[in-house]
Amino acid sequence: MATHSHDGSCFYLFLLKYLCDTLELRFLGGAGEVGRSAILLKDEVNILMDYGIKLEGKAQFPLLPKKVDALVLSHAHLDHSGYAPALYKRGMPMAFGTEPTYKLAELLIEDSIKVNMKKHERLGFGKKDMRTFLNSYSMRSYGEGIDFREHTITLHNAGHIAGSAITLIENKEGRRVAYTGDFKLSKQTLHHGAEIIDCDVLITESTYATREHPDRDALIAQFINNIKEVTENGGTALIPVFAVGRAQEVLAILNKHGLMDHTYIDGMALKATNIVMSTPEFLNNPKLLSDAVSKAQKITKANDRGRALYGGSIIVTTAGMLSGGPVLDYITKLNNKSMIFLTGYQAENTNGRRLLENKPLIIDDKSIFIKTPFAFYDLSAHAGQEDLHDYVKRANPETVVCVHGDEESTSAFKEWLQGEGYEAYAPKMGEEITIK
Ligand SMILES: [Zn+2]
Ligand SMILES: [Zn+2]
Repeated sequence: MATHSHDGSCFYLFLLKYLCDTLELRFLGGAGEVGRSAILLKDEVNILMDYGIKLEGKAQFPLLPKKVDALVLSHAHLDHSGYAPALYKRGMPMAFGTEPTYKLAELLIEDSIKVNMKKHERLGFGKKDMRTFLNSYSMRSYGEGIDFREHTITLHNAGHIAGSAITLIENKEGRRVAYTGDFKLSKQTLHHGAEIIDCDVLITESTYATREHPDRDALIAQFINNIKEVTENGGTALIPVFAVGRAQEVLAILNKHGLMDHTYIDGMALKATNIVMSTPEFLNNPKLLSDAVSKAQKITKANDRGRALYGGSIIVTTAGMLSGGPVLDYITKLNNKSMIFLTGYQAENTNGRRLLENKPLIIDDKSIFIKTPFAFYDLSAHAGQEDLHDYVKRANPETVVCVHGDEESTSAFKEWLQGEGYEAYAPKMGEEITIK
Protein backbone atom coordinates (compact mmCIF):
# COMPACT_ATOMS: atom_id res chain seq x y z
CA MET A 1 0.00 0.00 0.00
CA ALA A 2 3.06 2.31 0.00
CA THR A 3 1.98 3.99 -3.26
CA HIS A 4 -1.25 5.11 -1.61
CA SER A 5 0.12 6.23 1.74
CA HIS A 6 0.18 9.92 0.75
CA ASP A 7 -3.53 9.85 0.02
CA GLY A 8 -5.76 9.99 3.11
CA SER A 9 -8.95 8.79 1.43
CA CYS A 10 -7.13 5.80 0.01
CA PHE A 11 -5.80 5.02 3.45
CA TYR A 12 -9.33 4.97 4.91
CA LEU A 13 -10.54 2.82 2.05
CA PHE A 14 -7.70 0.45 2.81
CA LEU A 15 -8.55 0.50 6.50
CA LEU A 16 -12.20 -0.21 5.71
CA LYS A 17 -11.30 -3.06 3.41
CA TYR A 18 -8.86 -4.38 6.02
CA LEU A 19 -11.55 -4.30 8.70
CA CYS A 20 -14.11 -5.91 6.40
CA ASP A 21 -11.65 -8.60 5.42
CA THR A 22 -10.92 -9.56 8.99
CA LEU A 23 -12.44 -12.85 10.02
CA GLU A 24 -12.84 -13.89 13.59
CA LEU A 25 -13.06 -17.47 14.73
CA ARG A 26 -14.06 -18.38 18.24
CA PHE A 27 -13.61 -21.91 19.52
CA LEU A 28 -16.45 -22.83 21.83
CA GLY A 29 -15.46 -26.49 22.12
CA GLY A 30 -13.64 -29.34 20.39
CA ALA A 31 -10.37 -27.38 20.45
CA GLY A 32 -7.44 -29.34 21.87
CA GLU A 33 -9.87 -32.19 22.49
CA VAL A 34 -12.22 -34.58 20.69
CA GLY A 35 -15.87 -33.94 21.60
CA ARG A 36 -18.28 -30.95 21.83
CA SER A 37 -17.11 -29.41 18.53
CA ALA A 38 -18.32 -25.81 18.12
CA ILE A 39 -16.69 -23.08 16.02
CA LEU A 40 -18.15 -19.61 15.59
CA LEU A 41 -17.27 -17.60 12.49
CA LYS A 42 -17.81 -13.88 13.04
CA ASP A 43 -17.85 -11.98 9.77
CA GLU A 44 -20.73 -9.47 9.74
CA VAL A 45 -22.92 -12.46 10.50
CA ASN A 46 -22.32 -15.13 13.13
CA ILE A 47 -22.23 -18.59 11.65
CA LEU A 48 -21.81 -21.48 14.07
CA MET A 49 -20.24 -24.62 12.68
CA ASP A 50 -21.35 -27.64 14.73
CA TYR A 51 -22.60 -27.63 18.30
CA GLY A 52 -21.68 -30.94 19.87
CA ILE A 53 -21.61 -32.54 23.27
CA LYS A 54 -19.11 -34.83 25.01
CA LEU A 55 -20.94 -37.70 26.62
CA GLU A 56 -18.23 -40.15 27.67
CA GLY A 57 -18.22 -40.09 31.46
CA LYS A 58 -19.93 -36.98 32.77
CA ALA A 59 -21.58 -34.80 30.08
CA GLN A 60 -19.48 -31.83 28.94
CA PHE A 61 -20.92 -28.93 26.98
CA PRO A 62 -19.53 -26.29 24.61
CA LEU A 63 -19.47 -22.61 25.63
CA LEU A 64 -22.53 -20.55 24.84
CA PRO A 65 -22.20 -18.19 21.87
CA LYS A 66 -23.55 -14.64 22.37
CA LYS A 67 -25.38 -14.50 19.07
CA VAL A 68 -25.91 -17.06 16.31
CA ASP A 69 -27.47 -16.20 12.94
CA ALA A 70 -27.06 -19.64 11.39
CA LEU A 71 -25.96 -23.10 12.48
CA VAL A 72 -24.33 -25.48 9.99
CA LEU A 73 -23.92 -29.12 11.00
CA SER A 74 -21.10 -31.17 9.50
CA HIS A 75 -22.63 -34.53 10.46
CA ALA A 76 -24.86 -36.33 12.93
CA HIS A 77 -22.36 -37.72 15.47
CA LEU A 78 -23.19 -36.27 18.88
CA ASP A 79 -19.79 -34.66 19.31
CA HIS A 80 -20.91 -32.39 16.41
CA SER A 81 -24.71 -32.19 16.72
CA GLY A 82 -25.61 -33.24 20.26
CA TYR A 83 -25.95 -29.82 21.90
CA ALA A 84 -27.73 -28.07 19.01
CA PRO A 85 -31.16 -28.19 20.74
CA ALA A 86 -29.78 -26.09 23.63
CA LEU A 87 -29.32 -23.17 21.20
CA TYR A 88 -33.06 -23.20 20.50
CA LYS A 89 -34.00 -22.52 24.10
CA ARG A 90 -33.01 -18.89 23.52
CA GLY A 91 -33.34 -18.27 19.80
CA MET A 92 -34.26 -19.64 16.42
CA PRO A 93 -31.23 -19.51 14.16
CA MET A 94 -31.57 -21.17 10.77
CA ALA A 95 -29.92 -24.59 10.71
CA PHE A 96 -28.41 -26.16 7.60
CA GLY A 97 -27.18 -29.65 6.88
CA THR A 98 -27.83 -32.73 4.75
CA GLU A 99 -30.85 -35.01 4.99
CA PRO A 100 -29.00 -37.96 6.63
CA THR A 101 -27.57 -35.53 9.20
CA TYR A 102 -31.09 -34.40 10.10
CA LYS A 103 -32.49 -37.92 10.44
CA LEU A 104 -29.51 -39.45 12.21
CA ALA A 105 -29.10 -36.49 14.58
CA GLU A 106 -32.77 -36.87 15.54
CA LEU A 107 -32.16 -40.56 16.37
CA LEU A 108 -28.97 -39.92 18.35
CA ILE A 109 -30.19 -36.84 20.24
CA GLU A 110 -33.45 -38.50 21.20
CA ASP A 111 -31.48 -41.47 22.51
CA SER A 112 -29.13 -39.19 24.47
CA ILE A 113 -32.13 -37.58 26.20
CA LYS A 114 -33.41 -41.05 27.16
CA VAL A 115 -30.03 -42.31 28.40
CA ASN A 116 -29.41 -39.19 30.49
CA MET A 117 -32.88 -39.33 32.02
CA LYS A 118 -32.04 -42.85 33.19
CA LYS A 119 -28.75 -41.57 34.64
CA HIS A 120 -30.65 -38.67 36.27
CA GLU A 121 -28.26 -36.26 34.57
CA ARG A 122 -29.54 -33.02 33.07
CA LEU A 123 -28.55 -32.19 29.53
CA GLY A 124 -29.75 -28.60 29.54
CA PHE A 125 -32.42 -29.15 26.92
CA GLY A 126 -35.43 -31.35 26.38
CA LYS A 127 -37.53 -32.89 23.63
CA LYS A 128 -39.34 -29.62 22.97
CA ASP A 129 -36.04 -27.84 22.22
CA MET A 130 -35.03 -30.73 19.98
CA ARG A 131 -38.26 -30.29 17.98
CA THR A 132 -37.67 -26.53 17.66
CA PHE A 133 -34.18 -27.25 16.39
CA LEU A 134 -35.42 -29.82 13.86
CA ASN A 135 -38.19 -27.44 12.70
CA SER A 136 -35.54 -24.78 11.99
CA TYR A 137 -33.42 -27.22 9.97
CA SER A 138 -33.23 -26.86 6.23
CA MET A 139 -31.99 -29.97 4.38
CA ARG A 140 -29.47 -29.29 1.61
CA SER A 141 -27.69 -31.42 -0.96
CA TYR A 142 -23.97 -31.54 -1.64
CA GLY A 143 -22.86 -28.77 -3.97
CA GLU A 144 -26.00 -26.66 -3.57
CA GLY A 145 -25.09 -23.03 -2.78
CA ILE A 146 -27.06 -21.61 0.15
CA ASP A 147 -27.33 -17.80 0.06
CA PHE A 148 -27.22 -16.44 3.56
CA ARG A 149 -26.81 -12.67 4.13
CA GLU A 150 -24.17 -12.02 1.49
CA HIS A 151 -22.46 -15.31 2.25
CA THR A 152 -22.67 -18.52 0.27
CA ILE A 153 -22.58 -21.73 2.26
CA THR A 154 -21.95 -24.98 0.39
CA LEU A 155 -21.74 -28.53 1.73
CA HIS A 156 -19.39 -31.05 0.14
CA ASN A 157 -18.91 -34.78 0.70
CA ALA A 158 -16.56 -35.46 3.65
CA GLY A 159 -16.38 -39.27 3.21
CA HIS A 160 -16.81 -39.91 6.96
CA ILE A 161 -20.40 -41.20 7.42
CA ALA A 162 -23.69 -40.87 5.52
CA GLY A 163 -24.39 -37.18 4.90
CA SER A 164 -21.11 -35.95 6.44
CA ALA A 165 -20.08 -32.62 4.97
CA ILE A 166 -17.18 -30.26 4.57
CA THR A 167 -18.64 -26.76 4.97
CA LEU A 168 -17.44 -23.99 2.67
CA ILE A 169 -18.39 -20.40 3.56
CA GLU A 170 -17.60 -17.73 1.01
CA ASN A 171 -18.12 -14.06 1.90
CA LYS A 172 -18.84 -11.19 -0.47
CA GLU A 173 -15.13 -10.36 -0.78
CA GLY A 174 -14.65 -13.89 -2.08
CA ARG A 175 -12.78 -15.21 0.97
CA ARG A 176 -13.26 -18.90 1.39
CA VAL A 177 -13.34 -20.60 4.78
CA ALA A 178 -13.62 -24.40 4.76
CA TYR A 179 -14.35 -26.54 7.81
CA THR A 180 -13.72 -30.25 7.31
CA GLY A 181 -15.79 -31.63 10.21
CA ASP A 182 -14.70 -35.26 10.47
CA PHE A 183 -13.45 -36.54 7.14
CA LYS A 184 -11.78 -39.43 5.37
CA LEU A 185 -9.79 -38.85 2.22
CA SER A 186 -9.49 -42.45 1.08
CA LYS A 187 -12.66 -44.34 0.25
CA GLN A 188 -14.49 -46.69 2.60
CA THR A 189 -16.66 -49.64 1.60
CA LEU A 190 -19.77 -47.41 1.58
CA HIS A 191 -18.33 -43.94 0.97
CA HIS A 192 -16.29 -42.09 -1.60
CA GLY A 193 -13.33 -40.16 -0.22
CA ALA A 194 -13.72 -36.49 0.77
CA GLU A 195 -13.86 -33.74 -1.83
CA ILE A 196 -10.89 -31.37 -1.89
CA ILE A 197 -12.08 -27.79 -1.31
CA ASP A 198 -9.86 -24.99 -2.51
CA CYS A 199 -9.88 -22.34 0.25
CA ASP A 200 -8.09 -19.45 2.02
CA VAL A 201 -8.69 -20.64 5.56
CA LEU A 202 -8.95 -24.34 6.39
CA ILE A 203 -10.26 -25.52 9.75
CA THR A 204 -9.35 -29.18 9.88
CA GLU A 205 -9.92 -32.10 12.19
CA SER A 206 -6.70 -33.54 13.67
CA THR A 207 -7.81 -36.82 15.28
CA TYR A 208 -4.98 -38.85 13.72
CA ALA A 209 -2.46 -36.06 13.14
CA THR A 210 0.30 -38.04 14.83
CA ARG A 211 -0.65 -41.54 13.68
CA GLU A 212 -1.02 -43.50 10.50
CA HIS A 213 -3.72 -46.10 9.90
CA PRO A 214 -2.70 -49.63 8.93
CA ASP A 215 -3.44 -50.56 5.32
CA ARG A 216 -7.25 -50.78 5.12
CA ASP A 217 -7.48 -53.76 2.76
CA ALA A 218 -5.00 -55.78 4.81
CA LEU A 219 -6.85 -54.87 8.01
CA ILE A 220 -10.20 -55.97 6.56
CA ALA A 221 -8.68 -59.27 5.32
CA GLN A 222 -7.35 -59.96 8.82
CA PHE A 223 -10.69 -58.98 10.40
CA ILE A 224 -12.59 -61.38 8.14
CA ASN A 225 -10.12 -64.26 8.71
CA ASN A 226 -10.26 -63.76 12.46
CA ILE A 227 -14.08 -63.83 12.46
CA LYS A 228 -14.07 -67.01 10.35
CA GLU A 229 -11.60 -68.71 12.72
CA VAL A 230 -13.84 -67.96 15.71
CA THR A 231 -17.14 -68.96 14.12
CA GLU A 232 -15.74 -72.11 12.45
CA ASN A 233 -14.41 -73.16 15.85
CA GLY A 234 -17.87 -72.91 17.43
CA GLY A 235 -17.64 -69.45 18.98
CA THR A 236 -19.69 -66.28 18.52
CA ALA A 237 -18.07 -63.20 16.98
CA LEU A 238 -19.48 -60.27 18.95
CA ILE A 239 -18.89 -57.00 17.09
CA PRO A 240 -19.71 -53.86 19.11
CA VAL A 241 -20.28 -50.94 16.72
CA PHE A 242 -21.21 -47.26 16.80
CA ALA A 243 -24.79 -47.05 15.52
CA VAL A 244 -24.07 -44.41 12.91
CA GLY A 245 -21.30 -45.14 10.44
CA ARG A 246 -19.40 -48.14 11.78
CA ALA A 247 -22.49 -50.42 11.95
CA GLN A 248 -23.20 -49.89 8.24
CA GLU A 249 -19.54 -50.22 7.24
CA VAL A 250 -19.19 -53.51 9.16
CA LEU A 251 -22.40 -54.93 7.64
CA ALA A 252 -21.23 -54.00 4.14
CA ILE A 253 -17.83 -55.62 4.78
CA LEU A 254 -19.42 -58.82 6.13
CA ASN A 255 -21.76 -58.99 3.13
CA LYS A 256 -18.94 -58.38 0.67
CA HIS A 257 -17.13 -61.39 2.15
CA GLY A 258 -20.16 -63.70 2.18
CA LEU A 259 -20.59 -63.74 5.95
CA MET A 260 -24.29 -62.86 6.29
CA ASP A 261 -25.77 -66.36 6.78
CA HIS A 262 -25.46 -66.33 10.57
CA THR A 263 -25.29 -62.58 11.18
CA TYR A 264 -27.59 -60.77 13.61
CA ILE A 265 -28.19 -57.03 14.06
CA ASP A 266 -29.51 -55.55 17.27
CA GLY A 267 -30.17 -52.21 18.95
CA MET A 268 -29.65 -48.70 17.57
CA ALA A 269 -27.39 -50.22 14.90
CA LEU A 270 -30.50 -51.53 13.16
CA LYS A 271 -32.46 -48.28 13.43
CA ALA A 272 -29.56 -46.20 12.16
CA THR A 273 -28.97 -48.60 9.27
CA ASN A 274 -32.60 -48.26 8.18
CA ILE A 275 -32.24 -44.46 8.22
CA VAL A 276 -29.01 -44.59 6.21
CA MET A 277 -30.72 -46.77 3.60
CA SER A 278 -33.53 -44.23 3.21
CA THR A 279 -31.10 -41.86 1.44
CA PRO A 280 -29.16 -44.22 -0.85
CA GLU A 281 -27.80 -41.27 -2.87
CA PHE A 282 -25.40 -40.60 0.03
CA LEU A 283 -23.73 -44.04 -0.34
CA ASN A 284 -21.38 -45.18 -3.09
CA ASN A 285 -22.65 -48.76 -2.86
CA PRO A 286 -26.19 -48.76 -1.42
CA LYS A 287 -26.99 -52.25 -2.75
CA LEU A 288 -24.20 -53.83 -0.71
CA LEU A 289 -25.82 -52.45 2.44
CA SER A 290 -29.45 -53.15 1.55
CA ASP A 291 -28.52 -56.76 0.64
CA ALA A 292 -26.70 -57.10 3.95
CA VAL A 293 -29.76 -55.88 5.85
CA SER A 294 -32.17 -58.15 4.00
CA LYS A 295 -29.92 -61.17 4.68
CA ALA A 296 -29.28 -60.32 8.35
CA GLN A 297 -31.46 -61.59 11.19
CA LYS A 298 -32.95 -58.75 13.18
CA ILE A 299 -33.27 -58.85 16.95
CA THR A 300 -35.86 -56.34 18.11
CA LYS A 301 -36.73 -57.60 21.60
CA ALA A 302 -34.47 -58.28 24.59
CA ASN A 303 -35.93 -61.73 25.22
CA ASP A 304 -35.15 -62.69 21.63
CA ARG A 305 -31.41 -62.31 22.13
CA GLY A 306 -30.88 -65.92 23.20
CA ARG A 307 -31.48 -67.13 19.64
CA ALA A 308 -28.45 -65.19 18.39
CA LEU A 309 -26.13 -66.86 20.90
CA TYR A 310 -24.92 -70.11 19.38
CA GLY A 311 -21.59 -71.34 18.07
CA GLY A 312 -20.97 -69.88 14.62
CA SER A 313 -23.05 -66.70 14.92
CA ILE A 314 -21.93 -63.12 14.28
CA ILE A 315 -23.62 -60.34 16.27
CA VAL A 316 -23.35 -56.70 15.19
CA THR A 317 -24.68 -54.44 17.92
CA THR A 318 -24.40 -51.18 19.82
CA ALA A 319 -22.82 -49.60 21.78
CA GLY A 320 -19.43 -49.33 20.12
CA MET A 321 -17.63 -48.41 23.35
CA LEU A 322 -19.69 -50.89 25.43
CA SER A 323 -21.21 -47.97 27.30
CA GLY A 324 -24.73 -49.44 27.16
CA GLY A 325 -27.15 -51.16 24.80
CA PRO A 326 -27.65 -54.85 23.93
CA VAL A 327 -23.89 -55.54 23.67
CA LEU A 328 -23.69 -55.65 27.49
CA ASP A 329 -26.38 -58.30 27.55
CA TYR A 330 -24.52 -60.46 25.03
CA ILE A 331 -21.05 -59.95 26.46
CA THR A 332 -21.78 -61.83 29.69
CA LYS A 333 -23.37 -64.81 27.90
CA LEU A 334 -20.77 -65.75 25.27
CA ASN A 335 -19.42 -69.33 25.15
CA ASN A 336 -15.72 -69.88 25.83
CA LYS A 337 -14.79 -70.11 22.15
CA SER A 338 -16.14 -66.63 21.39
CA MET A 339 -14.33 -63.39 20.74
CA ILE A 340 -15.12 -59.65 20.99
CA PHE A 341 -14.15 -57.52 17.96
CA LEU A 342 -13.78 -53.85 18.87
CA THR A 343 -14.00 -51.75 15.71
CA GLY A 344 -13.15 -48.22 16.75
CA TYR A 345 -11.76 -45.71 19.16
CA GLN A 346 -12.44 -46.45 22.86
CA ALA A 347 -12.62 -43.26 24.91
CA GLU A 348 -11.41 -42.99 28.49
CA ASN A 349 -13.93 -43.92 31.20
CA THR A 350 -15.78 -46.32 28.93
CA ASN A 351 -16.20 -50.07 29.30
CA GLY A 352 -14.48 -50.48 25.94
CA ARG A 353 -11.33 -48.82 27.30
CA ARG A 354 -11.57 -50.93 30.47
CA LEU A 355 -11.72 -54.09 28.31
CA LEU A 356 -8.64 -52.95 26.34
CA GLU A 357 -6.83 -52.40 29.65
CA ASN A 358 -7.88 -55.79 31.03
CA LYS A 359 -9.94 -54.17 33.75
CA PRO A 360 -13.42 -55.31 34.88
CA LEU A 361 -16.40 -53.69 33.12
CA ILE A 362 -19.08 -51.78 35.00
CA ILE A 363 -22.46 -53.28 34.10
CA ASP A 364 -25.58 -52.20 36.05
CA ASP A 365 -23.33 -50.74 38.77
CA LYS A 366 -21.60 -54.09 39.19
CA SER A 367 -17.96 -54.74 38.42
CA ILE A 368 -17.73 -57.74 36.05
CA PHE A 369 -14.54 -59.26 34.67
CA ILE A 370 -14.97 -60.51 31.10
CA LYS A 371 -12.77 -63.50 30.28
CA THR A 372 -13.66 -63.60 26.56
CA PRO A 373 -10.64 -62.66 24.43
CA PHE A 374 -10.88 -59.52 22.33
CA ALA A 375 -9.31 -58.11 19.19
CA PHE A 376 -9.05 -54.49 18.11
CA TYR A 377 -9.61 -53.55 14.47
CA ASP A 378 -9.64 -49.80 14.01
CA LEU A 379 -11.89 -49.46 10.94
CA SER A 380 -11.47 -45.72 11.29
CA ALA A 381 -13.59 -43.22 9.36
CA HIS A 382 -11.02 -40.45 9.88
CA ALA A 383 -8.08 -39.34 7.77
CA GLY A 384 -4.70 -40.66 8.95
CA GLN A 385 -1.60 -38.45 9.23
CA GLU A 386 -0.52 -38.68 5.60
CA ASP A 387 -4.05 -37.95 4.33
CA LEU A 388 -4.37 -34.92 6.64
CA HIS A 389 -1.13 -33.53 5.21
CA ASP A 390 -2.21 -34.36 1.68
CA TYR A 391 -5.58 -32.67 2.14
CA VAL A 392 -4.01 -29.40 3.30
CA LYS A 393 -1.57 -29.34 0.38
CA ARG A 394 -4.33 -29.92 -2.16
CA ALA A 395 -6.82 -27.46 -0.60
CA ASN A 396 -4.00 -24.90 -0.74
CA PRO A 397 -5.04 -22.48 2.05
CA GLU A 398 -2.89 -19.70 3.55
CA THR A 399 -4.14 -20.35 7.06
CA VAL A 400 -4.86 -23.68 8.74
CA VAL A 401 -6.56 -24.15 12.09
CA CYS A 402 -6.23 -27.55 13.78
CA VAL A 403 -9.17 -28.71 15.89
CA HIS A 404 -10.81 -32.04 16.91
CA GLY A 405 -7.73 -33.73 18.31
CA ASP A 406 -6.02 -33.92 21.70
CA GLU A 407 -3.50 -31.20 22.49
CA GLU A 408 -0.58 -33.36 21.47
CA SER A 409 -2.09 -34.02 18.01
CA THR A 410 -3.22 -30.47 17.28
CA SER A 411 0.08 -28.89 18.32
CA ALA A 412 2.17 -31.46 16.42
CA PHE A 413 0.02 -30.80 13.34
CA LYS A 414 0.42 -27.04 13.79
CA GLU A 415 4.20 -27.35 14.00
CA TRP A 416 4.33 -29.45 10.87
CA LEU A 417 2.18 -26.89 9.04
CA GLN A 418 4.36 -23.99 10.16
CA GLY A 419 7.39 -25.90 8.92
CA GLU A 420 5.68 -26.16 5.53
CA GLY A 421 5.12 -22.37 5.45
CA TYR A 422 1.45 -22.15 6.44
CA GLU A 423 0.08 -19.76 9.02
CA ALA A 424 -1.18 -22.34 11.51
CA TYR A 425 -3.07 -22.41 14.80
CA ALA A 426 -3.99 -25.00 17.41
CA PRO A 427 -6.48 -23.04 19.53
CA LYS A 428 -7.73 -23.99 22.95
CA MET A 429 -11.33 -23.90 24.11
CA GLY A 430 -12.61 -20.32 24.48
CA GLU A 431 -9.79 -18.89 22.34
CA GLU A 432 -10.46 -16.36 19.59
CA ILE A 433 -8.38 -15.97 16.44
CA THR A 434 -8.44 -12.97 14.13
CA ILE A 435 -7.41 -13.75 10.57
CA LYS A 436 -6.40 -10.84 8.35
ZN1 LIG B 1 -17.86 -38.17 13.39
ZN1 LIG C 1 -16.07 -36.06 15.65
